[in-house]
Amino acid sequence: MSDAFEKIKREEEELLCRSYSRYPLAIVRGEGSRLWDVDGREYIDFLSGIAVIGLGHCNPEVCAALEKQSRKLWHVSNLFYQEPQLDLARKLLSTSHHGKAFFCNSGAEANEACIKLARRYMRKVKKRDAYEIISLDDCFHGRTLGTLAATGRESLYDGFTPLPEGFRQVPPGDLDALKNAISDKTAAVLLECVQGESGIVPLPGEYLRAVEALCRERDILLICDEVQCGMCRTGKFWAFEHSGIKPDAISMAKSLANGLPMGAMLATDEMARGFEAGSHATTFGGGALASAVAAKVVEIMLRDDIARRAAEYGTYFKEKLQCLQARYPDKIREVRGVGLMLGVEFKNGAREIWEKLLEAGFICNLSHNVTLRLLPPLTIASEDLDKFHIALDEIVGASA
Ligand code: PLP
Repeated sequence: MSDAFEKIKREEEELLCRSYSRYPLAIVRGEGSRLWDVDGREYIDFLSGIAVIGLGHCNPEVCAALEKQSRKLWHVSNLFYQEPQLDLARKLLSTSHHGKAFFCNSGAEANEACIKLARRYMRKVKKRDAYEIISLDDCFHGRTLGTLAATGRESLYDGFTPLPEGFRQVPPGDLDALKNAISDKTAAVLLECVQGESGIVPLPGEYLRAVEALCRERDILLICDEVQCGMCRTGKFWAFEHSGIKPDAISMAKSLANGLPMGAMLATDEMARGFEAGSHATTFGGGALASAVAAKVVEIMLRDDIARRAAEYGTYFKEKLQCLQARYPDKIREVRGVGLMLGVEFKNGAREIWEKLLEAGFICNLSHNVTLRLLPPLTIASEDLDKFHIALDEIVGASA
């Protein structure tokens, strides 16, 4: 490690809460699908700030929108009508069947909004004391206390209990378990159509349609967490579109403002009746600066059909990765995912492969130490996908 890196690392250990274990890298600059570290070394980014940089680092059009808005108005609070927020709402709502938008600052906050609206809708509109949220094992919905309870991973609870009541999990794919879990206290089912943090696990369309039918039959709400799998990443604007389901609400964040903190909930007009002025809010939500940037992101995604691009490039990349699986059946267990949200699971752990990739100049994520999680910018060039594939081939071929 260089002196420059060691200095940054030492200082960070001194100054920042130890809430994360970090990669051995100090990144100082980004452009498109490229990142540079403190020593000037170049990397190809297959992580995108964990599925955030959908349109590439420092996208010139997004930078221009940021600069323009930054000289006009940053923030006045949600006590005022603001055009950038309306512009974003119009654009976002044009992508789905929902009728109302709520803006916040992160994925966890977007899920909190969905959970709170579901509970309030049940109580105020349906006049039922239904509050329970059923989510799925291996899901991830955030780290606020409420979304941690929805996430249901004991390993993340350590030292944080008690968590809020009214959350339970069932195994994904098990419809009977879900049927048995639904009671007159159930307000909603919350799920990710493609589970991201658990290592890229797409839920089968048949299962999702059956869950939706069950929600309709039992008159409870269906909420899709699109924080990671949404915004074109899977090859459709929203991941729920692959199965044809129509969730009552969706949450989003990550690539919504291409790196500026921004989250949102879209809800049907019917479900949105659960909120009234004063029900729920956040100071920064829908601020002019973040909204103008997010509106530009959505505009570009629609104009350039980034979803179709992600589908095409994703199919191309997945086929290459599947060829590697066919070549190394004793090492690679599975290649899964859709669009540019792909996972490569290894039979004997993937940490060493991940480290070698980093040494070779490729940044990606490692889930549960066995799966390489690949989430490149949706604008990545096919040559960069080829470079990754060639490097992975060499590294896996040389591995024990
Ligand atoms: N939901 C999903 C599916 C996520 O992947 C994440 C973060 O990884 C979250 C929610 C939480 O988002 P945030 O970290 O912005 O609160």
